[in-house]
Amino acid sequence: MPGQTAPHDSGPGVDRDAAAAPRPVHERSAADAGRPRRDRSWPPAPDPLPFPVIDNHCHLDFADGDEHLDVDEHIERARAVGVDAMITIGSDREAAHWTADLLAREPRLRGGVAVHPNEAALHARGTDHEGREMIPLDEAIAEIDRLVRGPGMVVVGETGLDWFRTSRKDERARTAQLDAFRAHIALAKETGLPLQIHDRDAHRDVLEVLDADGAPERTVLHCFSGDAEFARACVDRGFYLSFAGTATFKNAENLRAALAEVGIGRVMVETDAPFLTPAPYRGRPNSSYLIPLTMAQIAESTGTELEAACRAVRATTREVYGWPAA
Ligand SMILES: [Zn+2]
Ligand SMILES: [Zn+2]
Repeated sequence: MPGQTAPHDSGPGVDRDAAAAPRPVHERSAADAGRPRRDRSWPPAPDPLPFPVIDNHCHLDFADGDEHLDVDEHIERARAVGVDAMITIGSDREAAHWTADLLAREPRLRGGVAVHPNEAALHARGTDHEGREMIPLDEAIAEIDRLVRGPGMVVVGETGLDWFRTSRKDERARTAQLDAFRAHIALAKETGLPLQIHDRDAHRDVLEVLDADGAPERTVLHCFSGDAEFARACVDRGFYLSFAGTATFKNAENLRAALAEVGIGRVMVETDAPFLTPAPYRGRPNSSYLIPLTMAQIAESTGTELEAACRAVRATTREVYGWPAA
């Protein structure tokens, strides 16, 4: 994500006041596509985890909820339930600058930036969802190349392919996504950073590109969405799988089968907040403090006791991002 709802510019952009954390640049829309207005109240905090883990993919640049939480509140609520660190991802131009700015002043966080595949398609088209002009794709990628070398950056992402939001039959959009994906693969290798992949309805093509170009040493399928067979194909290639709240959804038997297939070894946990809120709060705002619900599912589906699962996920996260130090 983004990729489910069009980002809305909430106005003021980055707050340059040195004392305050910047205000979010996007707001999740009040209605999910095709669904009635959703409940925007924050879910209650789950029981704390027995051992702390890291949310390795969230979007702090996206506001949600009837009451907006600032960055401090997200961090504090997460810490109270054993989610002691987060990696925030800026995946459009505005969010990438916002994220770079936040990381430069916020030592408790790490992050990553990229041109999201759906954004790559818009750069190639030349206009965003509101008809505003977009810079050319190669310029957008050049900005990412510069920003990702800044303070606090630990990952190139999210990049990849999305044939759900962007039709694969639209040749210009398809080419833009493929070009952007390949440029980010090269950037991850050049910088030595891990790569976070967004794969929506594009499993086969994602593997094809990675096989052709050679995957970076640490490659993460963020919000893993495949079945057991695809999970096996990824793990066989040495990739890491990051599971979001979708693993708890009623209709997500394929994700639970994927977890059962590969076991806890190369698995990480994320929110993709404010999207993909785990059950039983699906549709409501999401934040890192809801990770325990997804962790419980990961433990159950991999047949691992919860504390052991948390320890394993934390160790894997440190192996991938080199953070946190302990
Ligand atoms: Zn994504
Ligand atoms: Zn995302």
